[in-house]
Formats: sequence, C-alpha cells, structure tokens
Amino acid sequence: MRPPTPTAAFFKKPGENGETVKSFDCDLQLHGPYAGGVSKYLSIPLLAEQSRLKGLEILVTGDIQHQKWFEHVNAHLIENQNGVYMDKDEKTFFIIGTEVEDHHRIHHLIYLPDLTAAAEFREKVKPFGILDCSMCGRPKLRQSPEQLSQIVSDVGGFMGPGHSFTPYTGLFSRYDSVAEAYGDQAKKIPFLELGLSADTDMADTILSNHQYAFLSSSDAHSAWPHRLGREWNRIRLKEPSFKELETAVWDRSGERIEFNAGLNPREGKYHATACNLCYTQYPLRDAIESFKMKCPACGGDIKRGVADRIKMLSDTPTGKHPSFRPPYKHQLPLAEIIQLALFAKSPMTKNVQSKWRDYIDVYKDEINVLIDAPESELIETNPEIGNKIKAFRNGLVYYTPGGGGKYGEPHLFDSQKEMDQFVLEAGKRSREKNKFSGQKSLKGF
Ligand SMILES: [Zn+2]
Ligand SMILES: [Zn+2]
Repeated sequence: MRPPTPTAAFFKKPGENGETVKSFDCDLQLHGPYAGGVSKYLSIPLLAEQSRLKGLEILVTGDIQHQKWFEHVNAHLIENQNGVYMDKDEKTFFIIGTEVEDHHRIHHLIYLPDLTAAAEFREKVKPFGILDCSMCGRPKLRQSPEQLSQIVSDVGGFMGPGHSFTPYTGLFSRYDSVAEAYGDQAKKIPFLELGLSADTDMADTILSNHQYAFLSSSDAHSAWPHRLGREWNRIRLKEPSFKELETAVWDRSGERIEFNAGLNPREGKYHATACNLCYTQYPLRDAIESFKMKCPACGGDIKRGVADRIKMLSDTPTGKHPSFRPPYKHQLPLAEIIQLALFAKSPMTKNVQSKWRDYIDVYKDEINVLIDAPESELIETNPEIGNKIKAFRNGLVYYTPGGGGKYGEPHLFDSQKEMDQFVLEAGKRSREKNKFSGQKSLKGF
C-alpha cells in the first residue's frame, strides 16, 4: 500500500495505544454526472485533480448505485485497501457512497464498505425505484428511513440524514428528531449532516442531536473550487479505510473528528424564511399568521428557513455541546474571497480563477491558504487579496442571509469600524423592506 501523501493538513499524534493517527480532510457528499444539475463532464480524474488543489484527501464517489457511474468509478479507481480506493494518479482517496431520497422525499447519505457491497446495495434497492435514468444519480426509493437503514446495514454500510434541516428534503422538515425518523433502526445512525444553512451551534440547540456526530459536506454538483469542499471535515484516522472512517464517525471520546469546516450558515440558501420566487425574507410568525405562507409581494410560496425550523425545535441554550463535539470553522471559498477583493461578478471569471491558481501554485492547496499559511506571506503574494484573506480570518465578515433558495452574500471589511457601520445600515434596510412588504400585503388582503 502506498502511504498517504503528506499535505498541509498532515500531522501525527500518538493514539491511545501508541498508534499513529493522521488527519485527513474529507468531503463526504457530492454527486456524479447522472444527478440533476450536475455537469456531464464530471469524472473521477477531474474530481481527484481538483480535490488535491483544494487540499482534500478523501472524497466520496457519490451516486454509486447508478450503473453508468458505477462502471466509470470501477474503471478509474483502484482499491487501495479495506474499502478505500484511489484514482490512477494516486492523488485522492475515495470512499464508496451515495445519497438517496426516501418515500417522503427525505434525503439520506449512505457509505458502503466497497464496490462489491455497492453492487449488492443496487440489487436490493432496484425493486423500489428507477436507478439508471440520466437524472437519477440520487434515486427516489419507495422505502422508509427505517427500511433503508435495514438494507444499508445488511450490506455492511452506515448512513444518516443529509442537509438535515433544509426545507423540502431535510429530515427535520418532516420529523422532530433523528430517532423519530429511523424508528427501531435509530441506534444504527451515527451522524447527521448539517447542510450549508446550519452549523454546530445551531444544531446543538436541539438536545436529541447531542448523541450524533456532525458531518459537514459540500453536496457539490461540480468540481469548481468554490463548490467542491465548500464544506468538509478534518478526521483523524489510523489509516484511510472504510472501517476506520466508520469507527471515527461513531467515536464519542477520541476526538476523531477534529473539526467541521464550512460556510457560515447565513450564506446557505435556505437559512432565513423567505419567498422562493422574489426571495423577500419574513419573520416566521408573520409568514404563517398574516400571510399563510404566500408571499404578499409576488404570490410565491414562503419557505420556512433552517434558522426558524431549528428555533422551533430548540430546547437547549446556544453554546451547550456534548463533550465530544469538535469546533466548527466557518469558511469562505478562496475563489469567493478573491471575487470580493477584485469586485468580480462571479468566482468563475477568468481573472478570479487565474489569481486563485497563483495562490495554489505558491501554497499547494486552498485549505493551506485558508487555514494554515502565515498571513504576512499571503499578503506578500498579493496585497489586495492577501488582506482580504486576513480580514476573513480575523472575522471581519458580515453575511446578508440567504433564504428561499438564494445564497446569502458575504461582505469583507478592512476594519471593525467599517463593518459596524455596514451592519447598522443593513439592519435599517431590512426593517424598511419588511415595512414595505407589510404595507403591500395589507392592500392585497
Ligand atoms: Zn440532497
Ligand atoms: Zn415573493
């Protein structure tokens, strides 16, 4: 077996029995090219290439029950050991996994021991849905969470809910707890995935969540560096293997998940309660009582935001966590920081991408730039951008919250004073907007 390549994230620490554990930066949710809205050019070599530039060491294959993607994965990965695979250039480790939708449209993330188990899983779920159409990389299966968990455990895998708090398809959009959804199978569920619109502080205000590990994943639909690895986990493993990953996710005492990293939840597109057409945001109470969840400004549907859903279920003060809970580091993808520094329209413009590449050429990968590299050097590389990275690291960032399907907007500042002024004005603008929507609504009723 080839040892993992050291990266900026690499470190060694003696384990309980004198064993060496290493930390791996893992993105454990993404899609293959046969899921809705995914680029048809997405491939294992592209994911492997991009993940190294990002600084990720372990990815999930995604969508593994899809026959064509399975064949692609099988042709492009070689088994490294014990259920972990590598691309042929030995850039990235891959774990076998997928996301499925259950009979009530709730999404679940599934991890499987190897490709043989994936083939068995495919056979077992085949009777319950269409697996191989061009858009069903994430298949809809006529199975309850309990039934799915039974199938997954029969083939030796483990699972938990994906983007657990989002409207439409998150577990908490229908259930009040993980246990309620999985019934008798609940004891087999080791984790819940937070999704882009929530973080650890929010999720732990629900006491029943304290028994689960939290994972944070990108749910990437492309390999662009502001999508792949926009959320990830640093996990300590004795070796990269399926069993070790499963052990780490179950571990409640060994600090195996070192930290979660991801967007500030305000950047998530379902953070606040908002209209799904014009994105006007509403206090939940007004949305329900005055507007019956119909937008008074445009007639669209108002979608209850993740923050409000969590508040409804909250029974524990913010900041109270179980002892094993790791920190959650808010991240902004480097391409988005560069976009802000250059006042560019999108993180995908040529200029932003070329500056992003300059940083990667110097610092090897994005996680190194965002977390580990010294600020003085980052500024020396490019003062304009380096200072924005520094501002981000020092918390000089404010997010206009997302909602209704529209991402929130980050704003970076050169000083605390500048930020305070912006926040004050943003508050005024939002109060004005609410007043305006309210007046409009009175005419409408
Ligand atoms: Zn999903
Ligand atoms: Zn509207």
